Amino acid sequence: MLPFNIQLIFAFVFGLTIGSFLNVCIYRLPLKKSIVTPPSACPSCGYRIRFYDNIPVLSYLMLWGRCRKCGTHISLIYPAVELATGLISMALLVKYNILNANFPQFFIYLIFISALICIGFIDLEHQIIPDVISIPGIILGLFFSLVINHIPWMESVIGILAGGGILYLVAILFELIMKKEGMGGGDIKLLAMIGAFLGWKSLPFVILVSSLAGSIIGGAALMMSKKGIRARIPFGPFLALGAILYVFFGKEIINWYINILSPGL
Ligand SMILES: [Zn+2]
Repeated sequence: MLPFNIQLIFAFVFGLTIGSFLNVCIYRLPLKKSIVTPPSACPSCGYRIRFYDNIPVLSYLMLWGRCRKCGTHISLIYPAVELATGLISMALLVKYNILNANFPQFFIYLIFISALICIGFIDLEHQIIPDVISIPGIILGLFFSLVINHIPWMESVIGILAGGGILYLVAILFELIMKKEGMGGGDIKLLAMIGAFLGWKSLPFVILVSSLAGSIIGGAALMMSKKGIRARIPFGPFLALGAILYVFFGKEIINWYINILSPGL
């Protein structure tokens, strides 16, 4: 068995590589382009990005964030996604050690969080949540609960129904009261996917955290934007954030909460 710090480095590099693939998905899925071919190219001059310029984070630093050929500025989002995925992969390994019986959950949650990162950034940029991620995500979450049993499969089923149902109700109420569409169908399928992977018990936490973060960050963004209250703040990134926090801290926070409500138990 490799020493744990070497395992952590492997997990980090593994995460960086997945992050690099997520960048391809984030850029191409909304444009309805294939995520397999053609190889990556500079969006400005079409220069084919060589393998040595495609090393996660490092290439960005070595090229000073510019295309080697035309010098066009490359978005900071690319290395940020790679670094975030690398760090999350490492953090997951700390939580689900190889020697631990729960090790398969490392892969379940890495897949889940990768989908969330992809959805979050696409929603931020394009205000859409692609069905090609959320719908297979719902099925995959249920499948894992049946095969790996990281949560009882019934919790996953109820999670899908409750997650989809709650936001569907909110969307209908919002439309009735405000006479305009507030919550997209994409958010509904995203929360159903979160319910599928994390079970229904996660939903109060995810909704509370995402609404809080959405009100604070979204409110600040609204005040700064010239469009005022009419600007649409995507909710997907906040749902994704709430779900990622739940993966790492959810059970601890819920236990703490229950202890406060019923001391002495
Ligand atoms: Zn270029």
